[in-house]
Amino acid sequence: MRVLLVEDEQKISAYLKRGLEEQGYAVDAAFTGQEALDWAELVNFDLIILDILLPEVDGLTVCRALRRRANRAPILMLTARDALDDRVMGLDAGADDYLVKPFQLQELLARLRALARRATDAPKSPILLYADLEMDTRTRRVKRAAKPIELTAKEYAILECLVREPDRVLTRAEIAEHVWNYEDFNQSNIVDVYIRHLRRKLDDAFAVKLIHTVRGAGYMLSTHGDDETL
Ligand code: CA
Repeated sequence: MRVLLVEDEQKISAYLKRGLEEQGYAVDAAFTGQEALDWAELVNFDLIILDILLPEVDGLTVCRALRRRANRAPILMLTARDALDDRVMGLDAGADDYLVKPFQLQELLARLRALARRATDAPKSPILLYADLEMDTRTRRVKRAAKPIELTAKEYAILECLVREPDRVLTRAEIAEHVWNYEDFNQSNIVDVYIRHLRRKLDDAFAVKLIHTVRGAGYMLSTHGDDETL
């Protein structure tokens, strides 16, 4: 999941970025409202964390501008304590939820999981299911046919992309956009490398393969891929 973190206080931003990255999120940090708007033009973020108090262009203005541009990413507003007006205005501006500062990282993570669930048409469960595959988004544990599968953070993030949109071909660029932030993504074949690892862990021991290569297009999670998987 690719997250845009908009927070002008460097220390808070760095702390949140680290905490989110430890959970496998790919995070890009913006420090002003204008930077946030520029980032959102470039990248299709899965989630946006938006502080209200920002220099120059404030968070409410950013939120309204994003919605006017038809940006539909779930937005979590960060508001100051007791600023009830901010909360109300945040929701009116098009934010999906708000969190009052100061907050615990655990609470931020729980809110983000809830927003990510709401953003999809999938059943509103923290557990993602496809065929005999099971991903628990709270514990980040993965099982296939009830057998635990150990994945690295990036492998997990790629699999999550595929599981959230089963039976649809995702291009390498689409996958990369949701899994790496701008700083860390630089190799065009990196997605293929991780897919190879995922296949070994997820599919090798099973007759029914879940991850399929669609030549010239990308990858697809499916129980019935016509096998171009070679
Ligand atoms: Ca601030």
